Amino acid sequence: MAGIKSKKYFAEAVKVIPGGVNSPVRACKSVGADPIFFERGEGPYLIDVDGKCYLDYVASWGPLILGHAHPEVVAAVKAAAEGGTSFGAPTWAEVELARLICECVPSIEKVRLVNSGTEATMSAVRLARGFTGRKKIVKFDGCYHGHADSFLVKAGSGVATLGIPGSPGVPEEIVANTVSLPYNDLEAVKDCFAKMGKEIAAVIVEPIAGNMGVVPPEPGFLEGLREITREHGALLIFDEVITGFRVGLSGAQGLYGVEPDLTCLGKIIGGGLPVGAYGGKSEIMNHIAPEGPVYQAGTLSGNPLAVAAGLATLRILTRPGTYERLEELSARLFEGLAEAARAAGVKVTGNRVGSMMTCFFREGRVTNFAEAAASDTERYGRFWRAMAKRGIYLAPSQFEAAFVSLAHTEEEIERTVKAAYEAFKEVS
Ligand code: PMP
Repeated sequence: MAGIKSKKYFAEAVKVIPGGVNSPVRACKSVGADPIFFERGEGPYLIDVDGKCYLDYVASWGPLILGHAHPEVVAAVKAAAEGGTSFGAPTWAEVELARLICECVPSIEKVRLVNSGTEATMSAVRLARGFTGRKKIVKFDGCYHGHADSFLVKAGSGVATLGIPGSPGVPEEIVANTVSLPYNDLEAVKDCFAKMGKEIAAVIVEPIAGNMGVVPPEPGFLEGLREITREHGALLIFDEVITGFRVGLSGAQGLYGVEPDLTCLGKIIGGGLPVGAYGGKSEIMNHIAPEGPVYQAGTLSGNPLAVAAGLATLRILTRPGTYERLEELSARLFEGLAEAARAAGVKVTGNRVGSMMTCFFREGRVTNFAEAAASDTERYGRFWRAMAKRGIYLAPSQFEAAFVSLAHTEEEIERTVKAAYEAFKEVS
């Protein structure tokens, strides 16, 4: 929980930063707490400005699959910084990162680096519109694709946490071209395409939803999206900003064996520095400037520091056994949490794919946003505070994932499960 210094810093922060934070969910409002200001990260730990140490399951919202300040990543960033922080001209490291991404994700033949997940999805949708000559996009309730105008319709993550349907400042004319449908509902997708199939440029989806809490695709959902979009000449965009290199080297598309036309990446491919990327078949990617007419650019795109951190991270992930190790730790944590909840008499529903998971404070399956939203968020808030008190840092919202990293160990997982039992008891 926020200590004396955190509270003092927050009081100063709100004077000069809207809400005192540079991204809304950090404010911790939905869990009834003040934000904790952090000073350092070390492996699986975060140390706050009051000197309290937390076991971290937020991982900067996903990027830190190796934990904080991994020595090889730090060394790569240091070496890059010593050679200059930005050139605004091509570097060989960008080619190396692009090659590695193309090798790992077979549906990507060409990839463009940008600076955030938002830029990646925004650019992918522009490309889909430019490529198809159509305007409309289909997304799913509770999925979050960053904060570009087109996506702020029934979005997940902070938008869901704050309970806002859209956002002032986004013109109606723009969101009129966005259709949002229930996740995992293929019938709704079929109906929509039957009505306006010729106007739809793309379907964009989190192939494993992470921004309404973790919600895996039901069997056949992704395959169905592939079939319907192909039939109607629309593109299928997988937003793998969270799942890319999280659930395996080839992301959710590798896990489920469904190939999208375009893929958006972010988070892990920047190793904790600001990076995003979008890629796909050359035939589509060749429409991007300067090769084609669809414009997209960036002063700091392919930044040497960010690319060095990303390359170092991905190279470590390609070593044998990494995802097996993550799976082992994550399964242990997931089963331990379920057992702890049962023992404490608290009814919860867990969803997990690999090292991303959510414990929903409700009974029954969670397969879409309506079901996720029926969770007892007030109780989640109390649980979050009870865990924070015990030095376990979870996402300060029910509608987010917990991430396990390669820096976690069995001992820390056991400690988390023990703390969870006590915290479940406290909120039972
Ligand atoms: N897509 C997904 C699936 C995300 O989870 C996020 C961020 N959490 C984004 C896009 C946007 O990424 P960024 O915050 O880097 O703009």
